[in-house]
Amino acid sequence: MSHVHSTDENTKAVKDLPKAYKNKPTKIEGAISDQIKKIVHAPRTPLKRKREEKAGEDDGKAKKMEWLKMKAKDAVIPSETHAVVKPEYLFKEPGALVFNICNPCKQFNSERQVEVVESGMVQIPLALCTVCRNHLNLQRQIKFFQFEIPTVKKEFNL
Ligand SMILES: [Zn+2]
Repeated sequence: MSHVHSTDENTKAVKDLPKAYKNKPTKIEGAISDQIKKIVHAPRTPLKRKREEKAGEDDGKAKKMEWLKMKAKDAVIPSETHAVVKPEYLFKEPGALVFNICNPCKQFNSERQVEVVESGMVQIPLALCTVCRNHLNLQRQIKFFQFEIPTVKKEFNL
């Protein structure tokens, strides 16, 4: 009898088995389906967000370029007389020398050769257009008149 009873219990247990599994996995399924919902219905995936940000950046760049072009119409390209660079002054000034080189000059120099001019001395190409040379001179003038001179005035209370 106990055997039969046992079988009944087993049968009941087997019948209840799906419930037992159903009850437990329901929560897991719920959690998984919530995750899936989040993935499927995510308002903006990181990739989409990146694309949107890039589109925004591209739009910003295009607008900036339009604004630069509008400003550039009034710009004056310096003549040779306004772009004379004298290495004897340029390289003998104290402190580091930092200056800008425009894209066409960079492109031009990138296609030229490096030359060993002395043992341990390599000359890299540095051809500069009038815009770059004029800017280099202006930058040095500004540094001298707007920075060094006022600094001396301040330092010596002149
Ligand atoms: Zn240049």
